[in-house]
Amino acid sequence: MRNLIKLLPDNIANQIAAGEVIQRPASVVKEIVENSIDAGATKIDVNIKDAGKTLIQIVDNGQGMGPEDAEICFQRHATSKVSKAEDLFALITKGFRGEALASVAAIAHVELKTRERGKDIGTSVTMEGSSIKESTETTCPEGTSFEIKNLFYNVPARRNFLKSDKVEFGHITDEFERVALSHPEIHFTLHHNDNELYNLQDTILKKRIIDVLGKKSSDRLVPIEESTEIVEMKGFVLKPEFSRKTRGDQFLFVNNRYFKSHYFNHAVNKAFEGLIKERTFPGFFLYLDVDPKRIDVNVHPTKTEIKFEEEKYIYSIILSSIRLALGKYNIAPTLDFEREMGFDIPHKMHSQPATEPTININKDFNPFQTTSNTASSSSGKTTENFSKAIVNNGFGTKEAKQEDWENFYTVEDQKEEEVQELVEVESIDENITSFIVKGNYILSPSKSGLMVIHSKRAVEQIVYSGIIKSFISSPIESQKMLFPIEKELSKKEIINWEMNASMLKQLGFDGTVESDILSVSAVPNVLEEETLSSTLDSILETLGHKDIEKGDIAHSLVASIARSAAMKQLNLNSNEAIQGLINQLFQCENHIYTPSNKKIIDTIDLESIETKFK
Ligand code: ADP
Ligand code: MG
Repeated sequence: MRNLIKLLPDNIANQIAAGEVIQRPASVVKEIVENSIDAGATKIDVNIKDAGKTLIQIVDNGQGMGPEDAEICFQRHATSKVSKAEDLFALITKGFRGEALASVAAIAHVELKTRERGKDIGTSVTMEGSSIKESTETTCPEGTSFEIKNLFYNVPARRNFLKSDKVEFGHITDEFERVALSHPEIHFTLHHNDNELYNLQDTILKKRIIDVLGKKSSDRLVPIEESTEIVEMKGFVLKPEFSRKTRGDQFLFVNNRYFKSHYFNHAVNKAFEGLIKERTFPGFFLYLDVDPKRIDVNVHPTKTEIKFEEEKYIYSIILSSIRLALGKYNIAPTLDFEREMGFDIPHKMHSQPATEPTININKDFNPFQTTSNTASSSSGKTTENFSKAIVNNGFGTKEAKQEDWENFYTVEDQKEEEVQELVEVESIDENITSFIVKGNYILSPSKSGLMVIHSKRAVEQIVYSGIIKSFISSPIESQKMLFPIEKELSKKEIINWEMNASMLKQLGFDGTVESDILSVSAVPNVLEEETLSSTLDSILETLGHKDIEKGDIAHSLVASIARSAAMKQLNLNSNEAIQGLINQLFQCENHIYTPSNKKIIDTIDLESIETKFK
């Protein structure tokens, strides 16, 4: 019989383990920062270059390591946190598996400098491919510094799988915020490419949340507190009116460890039932304290899923204490459920007389100076087809090359067929009289029957195609604001705004950020003052979707602008105005669906009209 089974060499075993623990630069940040917390640090600095692809450096002032530990710590199952089986059931540290450093050292170049508290001399260890390249005495501050370079240099599949810097850095800020929110008593900083993005002084919990979310959140937080034998709960929820279309501000912690739980999220949603709009998500920061023996942290390699012995009980505590708090703070359901977006008029504009918004449609009207008639608009689903011009930020400064953005306009195949079909069937007769019903639906006779057009959606599509066609090569015309609109932003929103500044400029927005306040002094001229604040909110929300890449962000931003432009009051009093709108709609090659895939036109064919009279 042959013996086929061999033990894997250490470096390969470590690489395999790394596959589970280290998925992307953000996982490294999480693991190394957690080690610093376990080492009792009171200050932790995170320095990132190129979203962690080039460098992740984490410096702490914790207890440090002696020369031997500084070498052994890179071995698999090397941990100072668990020494007997029982320890596993009473974990108070973040780490315990002893595999983070071994994993990182298997897939990156690592340099460790560390000095134990009270010792004069430190140790420097350089790791490559899981083995020690150099280990020497060194002078360095007390505490520990890890430099992780060239992540996944020896795992090309992983390296190539990494997303754009924006996406990867988005994951890093997510992890950073999670640990910063778990430990307000620790001073954290985060630098990206030498820019300081976060400097969070040690403080109390509420202040830490405000430092992360932005000052605006201070009067939006409702405190939650509940103490039972099984669980102690504290934290905050955001008042119902600040629920959002994305799950952004939802944080659960147990014993100061961030975790995810659909089940507990459900409890929070239930508590907010009837108080928030459909398809919006409440914001919450809930901190549970549970006896470590009653939870199992070891059910997932990255430890973000946790098993609770008393799951159902905790569910009911979350539900009832949030209900109670919302009731106590007198937060009654006074929301207007019909409203699509909030019309928050900036404070400075309250004193101005309100003017009736109007839109005058004329059939030659073309605010966008379409440069190319051959280009067709996109329906918005362009995951593969985003333009190189946008990715390279090449717009505006120089003429974008045609080949850079020709894919930008690709319409999905199936839609293209439908478009063709409709263009052939319908030919617009200028002399036809159309009617408007309920101020919105245009009824217009056509050869094949009766066309019904949703006029607001038509405007949305017209504005969308106009901007999409022109904005890559020339900036959208913007209007200067008499009074800049001011918005208080969270740290993340600031990063997102600044990372997309040149695209926003190209779209007609001019904004500067100063101490957490975004001040917008110019906006695209298709927008109306009344909807500006809510448009900016939806733009900030779009910028925050870290899973969409730059080309798609552009589409989504233009779609938001178009949606807001379509909220204007339409002036369709004359047949000429109606006909003008129809003409413009038909100039868009996709005139059947809006960018968000809503139907613009339907036809009632002759046959179905005739059957009504049989
Ligand atoms: P774990 O955290 O699960 O113990 P790691 O691989 O993350 O495993 O770390 C291995 C060991 O290295 C830790 O148990 C700890 O003793 C030591 N260590 C890691 N980072 C630090 C640090 N920043 N300061 C002091 N000791 C550290
Ligand atoms: Mg660890």
